[in-house]
Amino acid sequence: MAESVELPSRLAILPFRNKVLLPGAIIRIRCTSPSSVKLVEQELWQREEKGLIGILPVRDTAEMTTVGPLLSQGVGTDSGERSSKIQVATSESNKPDGKNQQEVIHWHTRGVAARALHLSRGVEKPSGRVTYIVVLEGLCRFSVQELSTRGTYYTARISSLDMNKTEMEQVEQDPEFIALSRQFKATAMELISVLEQKQKTGGRTKVLLETVPVHKLADIFVASFEISFEEQLSMLDSVDLKVRLSKATELVDRHLQSIRVAEKITQKVEGQLSKSQKEFLLRQQMRAIKEELGDNDDDEDDVAALERKMQSAGMPPNIWKHAQRELRRLKKMQPQQPGYNSSRVYLELLADLPWQKASEEHELDLRAAKERLDSDHYGLVKVKQRIIEYLAVRKLKPDARGPVLCFVGPPGVGKTSLASSIASALGRKFVRISLGGVKDEADIRGHRRTYIGSMPGRLIEGLKRVGVSNPVMLLDEIDKTGSDVRGDPASALLEVLDPEQNKTFNDHYLNVPYDLSKVIFVATANRVQPIPPPLLDRMEVIELPGYTPEEKLKIAMRHLIPRVLDQHGLSSEFLEISEAMVKLVIQRYTREAGVRSLERNLAALARAAAVQVAEQEQTIPLSKDMHRLASPLLDSRLADGSEMEMEVIPMGVNNQELSNTFRVASPLVVDEAMLDKVLGPPRYDDKETAERVATAGVSVGLVWTAFGGEVQFVEATAMLGKGDLHLTGQLGDVIKESAQIALTWVRARAADLKLAAAEEINLLQGRDVHIHFPAGAVPKDGPSAGVTMVTSLVSLFSQKRVRADTAMTGEMTLRGLILPVGGIKDKILAAHRYGIKRVILPERNLKDLVEVPTAVLASLEILLAKRMEDVLEQAFEGGCPWRRDSKL
Ligand code: ADP
Repeated sequence: MAESVELPSRLAILPFRNKVLLPGAIIRIRCTSPSSVKLVEQELWQREEKGLIGILPVRDTAEMTTVGPLLSQGVGTDSGERSSKIQVATSESNKPDGKNQQEVIHWHTRGVAARALHLSRGVEKPSGRVTYIVVLEGLCRFSVQELSTRGTYYTARISSLDMNKTEMEQVEQDPEFIALSRQFKATAMELISVLEQKQKTGGRTKVLLETVPVHKLADIFVASFEISFEEQLSMLDSVDLKVRLSKATELVDRHLQSIRVAEKITQKVEGQLSKSQKEFLLRQQMRAIKEELGDNDDDEDDVAALERKMQSAGMPPNIWKHAQRELRRLKKMQPQQPGYNSSRVYLELLADLPWQKASEEHELDLRAAKERLDSDHYGLVKVKQRIIEYLAVRKLKPDARGPVLCFVGPPGVGKTSLASSIASALGRKFVRISLGGVKDEADIRGHRRTYIGSMPGRLIEGLKRVGVSNPVMLLDEIDKTGSDVRGDPASALLEVLDPEQNKTFNDHYLNVPYDLSKVIFVATANRVQPIPPPLLDRMEVIELPGYTPEEKLKIAMRHLIPRVLDQHGLSSEFLEISEAMVKLVIQRYTREAGVRSLERNLAALARAAAVQVAEQEQTIPLSKDMHRLASPLLDSRLADGSEMEMEVIPMGVNNQELSNTFRVASPLVVDEAMLDKVLGPPRYDDKETAERVATAGVSVGLVWTAFGGEVQFVEATAMLGKGDLHLTGQLGDVIKESAQIALTWVRARAADLKLAAAEEINLLQGRDVHIHFPAGAVPKDGPSAGVTMVTSLVSLFSQKRVRADTAMTGEMTLRGLILPVGGIKDKILAAHRYGIKRVILPERNLKDLVEVPTAVLASLEILLAKRMEDVLEQAFEGGCPWRRDSKL
């Protein structure tokens, strides 16, 4: 910093528009206008020794409130000095800045001489325009005596305004100046401390205070503040040192105060900002960041929408409170935070659950309900009667705690569709909860939310799905729930079905009680035995036996065919399936207690017809002539035999649309050839039993499975061995024991039965026996195969064939007594399905025959047995010839 500068009498003048360069300040400017470029070029760039230039503030025309005279009164100074303004009207010829033609430049009469500290020259591409970047340091004040132009820029005759050394020394003695400079230094010191505290700058600025003369310091300080142009000008005009010091002190103090106030405000505002406000601010920032990143998933809006949904969910007050607490937690979380999603999903569930929403209950019309049941289901008279009774009780006493109806029967007998008819009769929504294979209590009651991937139980999930709090809820396959280490689902179901407890059903995931008392529960099961007794106790079992072929035919003609045609966008106009053909389908392609497979086969026929009708436009008109029916598409579809296993998929075309589109001359009639083509070769025939019992050692048993009654062949064979018994076919413990008993009994009676020449001869001498139950993939258990195993062993050892038209069932004691067994009705129906003509039953099962449809009974010969010999007597052609003088 130069102590004193020798100023030339003339300086090139660089105008500063609305800006002041104070001595001691350093600025960097970019010169682009032709006049300033010229000035820099000539006065600074081309000179070897860098000269000085004068910086003179000019005022914009707009800045002037009044346009003053050419030499107007300048900005007054405190010292009473006067400065003048020179008003120069520029014209095109001498316009230094190339601005508006008639622009009036208001020059300030005082400026600052400046030295270039650094110069750099640039050439703009592609215009080739030259620009300069100049770093200038303000040195000392001067006043303009006269302004003139040199080429395109101005020059001025000037005189220095700085004091000389003696003047300076004099002032420094002035007590007023001393006081002022002390005051200035103190204030400046204070400002430096505050700034250092804030910005943690080192003590460099403090050094300045001690080394630089105070009047220069005043300029340096003020130059660093952001003050108005007027204030800058007045500082420039403060030639008198005392005036300059007091002005600078004032400005430094003002700056100090403003920093303090700002700090106070920040502290205060920070203190006042509550946690949530802070979060809000942060979230706003986050949003802004996201927007910048183009990451616009609008969680805020989502949460607001969720809140609205929650408000309209009609939660009870205590649950609403709980939900709000959770919502507050969610709002505080960031979407990326762990737990955000689970909390959100939980709240969505709370909002979606039907707390209040219910199907409107209207007066139950029993007659309409009966009509509905009748129109939906063929037969099932007793079942329908029981359902009507149940509905009647509900009508008289809507809150009656009637038992839960439980339909028990093989698959496809209409359990589910009966339950859905109950729902429509009551005008309620229907929801099916599948319990098959549920082993974990959490499936019913949900997982606690502390588990990763926790979910509500199936009941709550079902209620969310159905959206009302009073649906008819079908607990499907309630017998298929098992219990293991993960808890007992049955105990949770007990709570569900107990009217005392289900008002406050506690789902672990939901964690707030839910009132299930308005739900009407109906259950289904294939078998009663596996249902835990306490659960069974809450239910009223209604058994649905399998259907006879005649019943199946009626069901097919009245219900299945119309439904299947409708689902495929067809009608009887397009496809005709006669009774005879349905009978064939029943006999040859199905062997089931229910009608599910029948329905699937009919659907396969309908699909084939649909293809035909849809293709008919491009091919030939429909006709009864089968070979004319063939079309490439039909052929390719039929090539796949697995077609029949497919589910019925509604085609979403209604009859109306279809008949509008396609006109058929006559319906497509299903005949045997078409059955063959569409369903493949017959799967079952009456010859099966005969073929299977063609060799000795095979007998026909009747068993009971989850699919209803079944015919079960039992095969026995002997080979060289050590007298062991081998059993195969996925057998349970009970059936294994029956096999042991059977073998023991046969061995004990070997001589009586003429299987061994003498009593002391061991039947198993040197050989093993192997008994196999075909269909080894199906687990089998129960005692009722006892008689069948004995028969097959006797057949094996005697090498006599068992009658192919006779099937049997019954438990045998070690002493050969025949005990009654269960599922007689289903077993007889199964025998009937297989085309069996004679059935051997335990005598004590006689009473069960009343349940068997008479049409079926009429087609069978029922043979009752008390002892094993009775069975053998009937099982072999010509009786049991070996029983002579029996000791039994
Ligand atoms: P389940 O629940 O017993 O396994 P579904 O109720 O699913 O059996 O019945 C299978 C199909 O058979 C359904 O389309 C049903 O309408 C039909 N069905 C069963 N029994 C009858 C019946 N008696 N009358 C009319 N349709 C029946």
